[in-house]
Amino acid sequence: MKYVDLHLHTTASDGVMSPSGIVRYAKAKELQAIAVTDHDTIEGLEEAVGEGKKIGFEVIPGIEISAEFSPGSMHLLGYFLDIHHPLLVEKLKYLQEARAARNPKIVEKLNRLGVRISYEDVVKASGGGQVGRPHFAQVLLDKGYVRSIQEAFERFLKKGAPAYADKFRFKASEAINFINGANGIAVLAHPNTLGMNGNAGFEALLLQLVKEGLRGIEVYYPEHSPSDVARYKLIAEKLGLVMTGGTDYHGIEGSELDIGIGRGDLRLPYSIVEQLKAAQARPR
Ligand SMILES: [Zn+2]
Ligand SMILES: [Zn+2]
Repeated sequence: MKYVDLHLHTTASDGVMSPSGIVRYAKAKELQAIAVTDHDTIEGLEEAVGEGKKIGFEVIPGIEISAEFSPGSMHLLGYFLDIHHPLLVEKLKYLQEARAARNPKIVEKLNRLGVRISYEDVVKASGGGQVGRPHFAQVLLDKGYVRSIQEAFERFLKKGAPAYADKFRFKASEAINFINGANGIAVLAHPNTLGMNGNAGFEALLLQLVKEGLRGIEVYYPEHSPSDVARYKLIAEKLGLVMTGGTDYHGIEGSELDIGIGRGDLRLPYSIVEQLKAAQARPR
């Protein structure tokens, strides 16, 4: 039996591997299909899908959108996107502009704290892809201001830390709407980051998202405990949601997480892809 991985990042966002590189890596690891789901961008998809065609490997064009939410964070995955769909292209362009406006604010805050880095340093660390906080962390590490990426987030970059600057986020309903509009399937990523575990409001929230067009939930994920998985399965069955899974692999050196298997125990069958395709074929 061959397996799939439906949650992966490349250099188009904060991953380490290029879009074509990750496709070749997935094939070398004998996976059957992957989805590339970079944060807030479809920039890597043409390359990834093209590489897949070239080497005979199935690549699902995807995305991961950060939506407005509290107490935790809400990420929405989109699968089988039409990457040329005008609404999707327009919304992502808006998001890129908002992000571009945020990053210099982080530099300013860091400078005011006596950290001497420039925006050019951060752009360089991003390798030409989308600039995000992990790139700031890398520069802080390279320049000796911190001893680890984690310390960079703790001391400077995480929400509430002195160099944090909030970014624009779409409302969940809006993100679901443009994912579905681009012929995609909207899926709630790693529900445990919502900060609603054990909360009675969780089911009501999901019900609302389903009304807005959500069609799947990421049940299988490296950070999910067996009881998380059981809980998400139950709710997926109840609401008729496709149960997806992925590793959220970023290709970071020294991480114990690998594509396809997560920390070693993830096995996601191809039937997940078939269920997504079936969901896509169903009229909404
Ligand atoms: Zn995420
Ligand atoms: Zn992710």
